[in-house]
Amino acid sequence: MTPRGRHFFANPGPTNIPDSIMHAVSHHTVDFNGPDFLAVYEHCIAGLKRVLRTSQHLFMYTGSGHAAWEATLTNLLSPGERILVIETGNFSEGWGRMATDLGLDVQTLPADWRRGADYAQLAAALEANAGHAIRALCVVHNETSTGMTLDLPRIRGVLDAARHPALLLVDTISSLGSIEFRMDDWGVDAAVGGSQKGLMLPVGFAFTGASDKAMAAHARAKLPKHYFSWTAMLQRRHKSFIGTVPIALFYGLQESLRLIEEEGLENVLARHHRLAEATRRCVRHWAGNNGPELFCLSPERVSDSVTSILMPDGHDAEALRRRVATMNVALGAGLGRLAGKVFRIGHLGDLNEPMLLGTLAATEIGLRLEGVPHAPGGVDQAMAWLAETA
Ligand code: PLP
Repeated sequence: MTPRGRHFFANPGPTNIPDSIMHAVSHHTVDFNGPDFLAVYEHCIAGLKRVLRTSQHLFMYTGSGHAAWEATLTNLLSPGERILVIETGNFSEGWGRMATDLGLDVQTLPADWRRGADYAQLAAALEANAGHAIRALCVVHNETSTGMTLDLPRIRGVLDAARHPALLLVDTISSLGSIEFRMDDWGVDAAVGGSQKGLMLPVGFAFTGASDKAMAAHARAKLPKHYFSWTAMLQRRHKSFIGTVPIALFYGLQESLRLIEEEGLENVLARHHRLAEATRRCVRHWAGNNGPELFCLSPERVSDSVTSILMPDGHDAEALRRRVATMNVALGAGLGRLAGKVFRIGHLGDLNEPMLLGTLAATEIGLRLEGVPHAPGGVDQAMAWLAETA
């Protein structure tokens, strides 16, 4: 039977799409080389650079986040070159596996997924690399599988203190437009992003913000590429996209940028923080009575775009998700080695208090129905915080 009522989508990406963006992407097809579209396109490129907080370069591709990962590695590196990947969770593992498949020499800075990397160990790894064989440091800003955010200015500081010339490559896929990110101020050389999270768009385009230093590295980079070649893109009118430009998504992006700028990026980030904190207060309460708990054990690193929640031993996160799905609420699954152990509540993009409270309440009902121990009343804690900070 078709479920009644609104679908409550609490996955950390793709995310809810505002009605005005849905209308915008239903635009009729136009000539993507024609003046009307080019005006929209240029406006979008400038706006996306403002969200990235960069005045440097931007390359876009039709594809999901993986496309931008691959484009970034192939445009900046040569076969056999070494990169250092900070372990954060499922997505740092995925990026590292891709780099290995592309022929790079991948070194990992190991980290406990619940506590995150130790910056002193990062400094030691860079200092041990006196010959500067490490050409790039890859960081997932916000690890969507564990719900943890790393401190990018601090990581920039570690690179600078070690006087290490490695490029700083950052995955902003689940942070951009949700958690503070400043590409130029933080000395990020490549910022990887996608359409389907903080930008509130359908899946479909991905992009890399590239610094001048990255462009110099690009001139030397020998990994094979064709569809992703920045040099080839620069010869095209749109300076991005080899092939057809995803026209409809640009009408959507125009509206997304309008919404973000109308609210104000700072206010967007503050809204994310407030809703994330409501979620955490709810989960911390459930954790009483041996209930589900925050997966992230470093309070200063908890993510404002997604909360990963660890089930008590012997209780299956998938059974809970299935139960909650009967109320037409979609929670995120545990990924990779966290499958069945963790469920995730995405609180990014187009979200308000009642949407979040509905999800939390349905989850609490699910805990009760599945016989998962927890302290009842987590939703009251979320409500109290939202009232206090209204
Ligand atoms: N990096 C992060 C942090 C992600 O959250 C995701 C997807 O959720 C990806 C990379 C991969 O992006 P995509 O699934 O769009 O290819």
